Amino acid sequence: MTYTLGLHELGDGCHAWLQPDGGWGWSNAGLVVGDGQSLLVDTLFDLKITARMLDAMSVHTGGAPISTVVNTHANGDHCYGNELVREAEIIATESAAEEMREVPPAMLAALNKAPGEVGDLFRSFFGEFEFDGIEPVLPTRTFTGRLEFEVGGRAVELVEVGPAHTRGDALVFVPDAKVVYTGDILFIGGTPIVWAGPLSNWIAACDLICAADVEHIVPGHGPLTDKAGVVAIRDYLAFVEREATERQQGGMDAWDAARDIALNGFAEWGEFGRLAVNVDAVYRTLDPSHKSPDVVEQFRRMHQMENAAK
Ligand SMILES: [Zn+2]
Repeated sequence: MTYTLGLHELGDGCHAWLQPDGGWGWSNAGLVVGDGQSLLVDTLFDLKITARMLDAMSVHTGGAPISTVVNTHANGDHCYGNELVREAEIIATESAAEEMREVPPAMLAALNKAPGEVGDLFRSFFGEFEFDGIEPVLPTRTFTGRLEFEVGGRAVELVEVGPAHTRGDALVFVPDAKVVYTGDILFIGGTPIVWAGPLSNWIAACDLICAADVEHIVPGHGPLTDKAGVVAIRDYLAFVEREATERQQGGMDAWDAARDIALNGFAEWGEFGRLAVNVDAVYRTLDPSHKSPDVVEQFRRMHQMENAAK
């Protein structure tokens, strides 16, 4: 299947909404059409691009309106469009719902408008999106562990696998169609970013996907993939954990360690500067007293790593 902007049919009433190139903020979403009702997996980063997606989905949702939304996690590119589906029941993990309260759209709107170096930095990542005036609409139902429910007669199974990418990541399985929507447990063609960790939870989530009876794997960013794509993410995470642990034990500073690790083939993935955040997550796991830099400094480091390589 070609990686183009729009709605892609996977079969059995399951669809993927893909947004190339899958870089910062360009996330994927999913639609599962049941009998008279549909499930939407994730909204998008702002209202304009969420409305464009909902319009394209209306050929299916006209006869089967979206009654349930799942937000796979709290990052804005998976939930800031919730305002446009506020009539639906919105489900997320308890931890994701909590995290959404801490990072409202107004915070990104302010960073995107900040003067000077900080504003320039954030606009270089998120300048294409419009966060002004977005009303945060939070989940109406939360869960921990597992949750099974039906939408239009179709069974859906949610599995909490975080904290990993964020504090409350969930996978969305549609067993009758052998489909899984993974949210940001998978970045394909781009580099995973470990905002929360531990990496071991994320590696376990990759193993869970590989062991599942699935034929269609929809990542949070990037093109549709297969189990080999999942293994590649697992390999990256295991590599970072190994390399960072070695340096932490040798007494190296986390930021020095990130700049010291040779990514080799992984350097060809987009957003490879995320290594800075990922190494820091390993340090935090090894030493809970490790102090991580604030979010502005994290973005500064990622920017610096990618520009140093140019
Ligand atoms: Zn995302």
